[in-house]
Amino acid sequence: MWQQKWVIGNWKMNGSNATNRLLLQALLKPVDAAATHVYCGVAVPNVYLAAVSEFAAGTALAVGAEDVSRFAANGAFTGEVNAQMLADVGAWFVLIGHSERRQYFQESNDELLAKLQNSVATGVLPILCVGETLVEREAGQEQQVVSAQLSLLAQLGLKEVVVAYEPVWAIGTGKVPAVAQIKAMHKLIYQQILSLCGEDVKIRVLYGGSVNASNAAEILAVSHVDGALVGGASLQADSFTAIIQAAY
Ligand code: PEP
Repeated sequence: MWQQKWVIGNWKMNGSNATNRLLLQALLKPVDAAATHVYCGVAVPNVYLAAVSEFAAGTALAVGAEDVSRFAANGAFTGEVNAQMLADVGAWFVLIGHSERRQYFQESNDELLAKLQNSVATGVLPILCVGETLVEREAGQEQQVVSAQLSLLAQLGLKEVVVAYEPVWAIGTGKVPAVAQIKAMHKLIYQQILSLCGEDVKIRVLYGGSVNASNAAEILAVSHVDGALVGGASLQADSFTAIIQAAY
């Protein structure tokens, strides 16, 4: 999987038992067919994790969560779900620091660090999401902002790092950065990870933000782009399948 391209869907707050089943039924064959070339996964709402994991059992589709509690141990934290619970219902990875969580839930760096530490300690692979807002991009601060977001990695001693570069202005907007912009940011992210985690770290850097069936091949061909994190288009079997197929 450290050589493969990754295509990970982020279902966000969407789906139902009935629609999830239909989507998975359509996806599992193409996912298995792509398995030697592409590592495929879906991040799903916690409430569906067990059912989706069960449905995908024995296939190549990895199932993950969209967030995790900053609290590690069980206890009086009403509404929270810790990394141990995610692992227990089949989550193999977890998104951490998605821009929607940073924006709507004001997730702080301390909180994100705790989430990363708990996931790593539990064996649930964190996918750290980073990216600048439009205001930050227009002010020429994208490198500074993303470098600061990545700095949390220095405190973890990781030997395997997965980061999703998702410019906030590209998420759900249909706007995609120019190839040169993606290339520059992915190169920077690689350099940062190497300097924060050491030269022998295994790295995957995914691009996220309005990836669809039409633009996936061009984006996935950019150097240092190891895969895609796909929101809206991961909810349609045809689009998600086309993106997976564009990865090989
Ligand atoms: C996302 O939410 O991670 C995302 C990339 O969304 P979209 O593909 O819809 O822009």
